[in-house]
Amino acid sequence: MKARTRFAPSPTGYMHIGNLRTALYNFLMCKHDNGDFILRIEDTDQQREVEGAIQMIYDVLDQTGLHYDEGPLKSGHCGPYIQSQRLDIYHEYALKLIKLGGAHYCFCDKNDEFEIDPCHHLSQEEIKIKLQNNEPYVIRQTIPPHQQVSFDDEVYGHIEVDTDSLNEGILIKSDGYPTYNFANVIDDHLMGITHVIRGNEYIISTPKYNLIYDSYGWEKPTYIHLPPVMKDETHKLSKRNGDASYQDLVKQGYLKEAIINYIALLGCYFGEEEIMSLEQLIQNFDIKHISKAPAIFDINKLTWMNGIYLRNMSLNDYHELIKPYYSSIVRNVDLLELSKVLQPRVEKLTDINSLIDFINEPLEFDPSIYKHKKMKTTPENSLEALKLVLPLLEEFNEYDNDEKFAEEFIKLAKANGLKNGQVMWPVRVALSNKALTPGGAIELAHILGKNETLRRVHKAINDLEKNI
Ligand code: GLU
Repeated sequence: MKARTRFAPSPTGYMHIGNLRTALYNFLMCKHDNGDFILRIEDTDQQREVEGAIQMIYDVLDQTGLHYDEGPLKSGHCGPYIQSQRLDIYHEYALKLIKLGGAHYCFCDKNDEFEIDPCHHLSQEEIKIKLQNNEPYVIRQTIPPHQQVSFDDEVYGHIEVDTDSLNEGILIKSDGYPTYNFANVIDDHLMGITHVIRGNEYIISTPKYNLIYDSYGWEKPTYIHLPPVMKDETHKLSKRNGDASYQDLVKQGYLKEAIINYIALLGCYFGEEEIMSLEQLIQNFDIKHISKAPAIFDINKLTWMNGIYLRNMSLNDYHELIKPYYSSIVRNVDLLELSKVLQPRVEKLTDINSLIDFINEPLEFDPSIYKHKKMKTTPENSLEALKLVLPLLEEFNEYDNDEKFAEEFIKLAKANGLKNGQVMWPVRVALSNKALTPGGAIELAHILGKNETLRRVHKAINDLEKNI
């Protein structure tokens, strides 16, 4: 039988990193097996629902390539895939479960306290009358006393609990909605889910779910509970504490491919090679390699990985990708050349802004930037160098020929007994008034073009003359 897995998010807000990893592992698991990936929206807690959250789930799965085979926007034979549209189904199965002895009506007030639910002892007749009188009720799970129940989790191993430690939780609320504790079992069964991959916060309730499966005589899925994604040794990653969600990371300039690749590695071993496409992740995924030790989210590693993804792109793709970041540029410059110098230097897209701030205009004049120990430059000898290089900049006409341009610079330096840097550094600073630029003198002149280069060098000479 082929694997059928599901991602079952509740539409309560952002896509947390841990959630996305759960979706990813479900996707990888079934695709490795050529199986089906199902999206199910668990919106039975209507109070927690956040507007727009369902659309956000669709968007994130779509953007990251985790396309589902069955789900809300794609028909399948187990629909509907939104729990609030399945209330009749839960109701029908709850009544069946009552008949099977796995659940019972409870008419107690929610503030009543008791060891054993007094509603256990209601006769059929009493129940019938209460229902006819429209007394509010819930349906609770009936837990058999003094039994050991157990299951084997693929990650956590053998889990065994005493039924006396399990509470008779609500399965159907007084408003007719099911709780997660009921709906997840019914849906996983009816949707033919073979492997349940979810956060480990559900591990302690799983024996209760298994009792429900047993009451119906249904086969139980394989359970794979995932350890949390941590911010550090002791804190879980959480949006509430300001930790980044998937959307935040995208806004911060991370590529979706890099995010997916990185979070796949949070708690699962895929082999020596860490850089993997979604296709490779599918091929190499093995639930046996999921670790039970919580993984720590390391933004520096993600940044490093993102840099690799950016550098591995073709220049044209990279250029297309970062074009939106050029929207502040009003000067007519060689943007493709700009992309070329940025590509090896950028680890995340939002770094770009601070690297291109000198394109419209050089920053404010600051003679101290001309001072460079290694290049042996000072504002004084920089002024000399700029005057020396000016005729070359005026006569040379192939600003887009980096190689030839560099040769001319080197020739000039040599002829004047200067090191290359003693000519290059002053030009670089003259063109930007920055110590840190993407590319050196040649590239900057290429990007800005001849007219602008000359204008800036003249201005720099002027500024230096006035200030030293
Ligand atoms: N709706 C649950 C959640 O978002 C899903 C748990 C599960 O995958 O079974 O946490």
